[in-house]
Amino acid sequence: MTGSGSRVKATIFRYFQPAALVAIVVLWSVMPAAWLDPWVFVAIALTTRLTILGLERVNERHASWRMDRRELVTDVFYMLLVIFAISKVRKLVVDQPLISARHALGLETPWAMHWPMLVQVVVIIALIEFGQYWMHRLMHDNHAFWLTHAPHHHVPQLNALKGSVGNPLELFLVGLSVAVLFDFDLSALLCVGHILTAVTCFAHANVRFNPPRWYAFVFTTIEHHSLHHSVTYEDTRCNYGNALIVFDRMFGTFRDGEAEAVGQDDRRRLTIREQFLFPFVPLIALVKARRADARAA
Ligand SMILES: [Zn+2]
Ligand SMILES: [Zn+2]
Repeated sequence: MTGSGSRVKATIFRYFQPAALVAIVVLWSVMPAAWLDPWVFVAIALTTRLTILGLERVNERHASWRMDRRELVTDVFYMLLVIFAISKVRKLVVDQPLISARHALGLETPWAMHWPMLVQVVVIIALIEFGQYWMHRLMHDNHAFWLTHAPHHHVPQLNALKGSVGNPLELFLVGLSVAVLFDFDLSALLCVGHILTAVTCFAHANVRFNPPRWYAFVFTTIEHHSLHHSVTYEDTRCNYGNALIVFDRMFGTFRDGEAEAVGQDDRRRLTIREQFLFPFVPLIALVKARRADARAA
């Protein structure tokens, strides 16, 4: 590529993330009411995920993170699991009962949906991200919660879809949010879902974006999040923000820099079966030990 060609490419990638977020807000602001449908959202968010995954082939960050068939199959499996199973279960067992209980108690908040859309988007993101920050921090501070979250850290490379890779218990827990306690406009809720999908993909993508400093001051980037995926457990205890790194700056857990070597346990890669069983390994070992003792007695 010529000097001016590579400069154009670098500029496009530099502003890609902020431009994408602006485009997402505009898209959901003008979306016809008839299209405010969960399946339209799934199709658009899926297109966004695959587009960011495609960028890994255009401006790769690390050759050591290059996608292969095994990684792709695992990543796609988890993406589909989250979209078609975990988010449905969460809606059924948590969101809908909370919304019904709220209506039964007369706790209506119709004023929320009359705020300007951008205000609603900012408030919903702040509510969701504040909860996710503390849930994620708890997962690194408490051993029982860590067992659910550790499979997300047992990945020896990062790619655009890796944000969905983890034990199903963790994927269920990180999606819990108090946003369901308010009556926000559907277009604002779908816009937030789309923004969080995009930023999570950006923060795991094997792409060299080099965004402006103001963007990286507010939003989590691959630089921040790769550091969170560091190989020693103690080094993972920073940069908890899923989409907003400002909460780490506020609560003293922000760390600057980036990492190429990522993973846990000597960068061991877990199979899907191992990722599903991981939180129960201590319990399984205990039962096996008791059985062995009983046989020996
Ligand atoms: Zn973590
Ligand atoms: Zn991650």
